[in-house]
Amino acid sequence: MEELSFSETAARLGLDNTPSSTVITNLGRVATVMEKIRTWLGSEPIVVHSGYRSPRVNEAVGGVATSAHCYGLACDFVCPDFGTPYEVALAILKSDIEYDQLILEYGWVHVGLAQEGVLCRREALTKRSPRAAYESGIRA
Ligand SMILES: [Zn+2]
Repeated sequence: MEELSFSETAARLGLDNTPSSTVITNLGRVATVMEKIRTWLGSEPIVVHSGYRSPRVNEAVGGVATSAHCYGLACDFVCPDFGTPYEVALAILKSDIEYDQLILEYGWVHVGLAQEGVLCRREALTKRSPRAAYESGIRA
């Protein structure tokens, strides 16, 4: 929970990043999925880059306003001892782990969950740079 609500940007800019109770519930679901992912990746350590982002923090990092991060429903991470973000994303794609969106981003992997009670899309995308369009599938 601590890892998923810590924000380097919030700390640096003095912005509040305290999750609401709804967000805390969502982060609990993300933590459960992240545990499954860690096990699937051979229990190698997961390094979380970003979990919950309050609206102001999300704005500061240039995130999309509707980002799953704002609901505490997403996690950006790497797992260097398992492999590159591409290898990690491919491995998750081959698992039966339930996610809404799996995105191979430029330097990390984003896993997003659907809102409680909403069917997850299991959508896989690649985004090669901040301004690049999303491409479908996990691409090298
Ligand atoms: Zn993300």
